[in-house]
Amino acid sequence: MPDILNKLDYWSDRITDRLMRRLPGPRIRIPTSRPVVSFTFDDVPDTALTNGARILANHEVRGTFYIAGSLEGQVEPKRTLISREGCRALAQQGHEIGCHTFSHTKVSHMGNQRLGADLQQNKDYLDAVDPRDARRNFAYPYNAGSLWGRGVFQSRFQTCRAGGERINRGPVNPVFLSGVEIRQPESHAQGLTTWVDTLIAEPGWLIFFTHDIAPRPTDFGCTPETFERLVAYTLERGCTVLTVRDALDCFGAGRLS
Ligand SMILES: [Zn+2]
Repeated sequence: MPDILNKLDYWSDRITDRLMRRLPGPRIRIPTSRPVVSFTFDDVPDTALTNGARILANHEVRGTFYIAGSLEGQVEPKRTLISREGCRALAQQGHEIGCHTFSHTKVSHMGNQRLGADLQQNKDYLDAVDPRDARRNFAYPYNAGSLWGRGVFQSRFQTCRAGGERINRGPVNPVFLSGVEIRQPESHAQGLTTWVDTLIAEPGWLIFFTHDIAPRPTDFGCTPETFERLVAYTLERGCTVLTVRDALDCFGAGRLS
């Protein structure tokens, strides 16, 4: 994409991000009485299953995995994406399977008709590995929402997660939940325990998101050792670790408006 279009896209995402949090619309209330943490994975690389899910299960907690069907089994220079059998294994182990679009296209780049078709395609893909009547949870590719598509997301999903590096507290837009990224450099990933300290001081819902959990991670993941320490620290500090779906059930997060 030419540089000028990249810049326009960047600013369009920034403005959308701000408006999605501030425009009137549906809200759910996140209690500020106790610290809740969710560990989520986007795309999803196979090491999120072999290392990420394993580490969570070793601590007797579960995570949410936002899967884009078109990435199935894709081999990239520094990671391989999860297979259909891998998705099934995640579901069988009690992890939550969420949606991340089928095509992994930025949702603001799709008209509502194409968006609806894409989301239906991923619903069919995910339902084949993890049949489910209830609405799933969703994470935006590149953490970028769509002002024009927000009605589509409200009708199809329980919640949609973006980025934003903040903790969800009080009334929040369910189709634009905030997340905190676990990524490189490794020193940054190791320092994310300070987010847990902040959550303890002022409770709410902290949603971590990452990609691969590998000895040599991509820029968008971390090592198994760092992930293990973060999960252990979260539990040692007394946080409740839940999947996104279970956190919403725990909050009784009905719509406020
Ligand atoms: Zn993604």
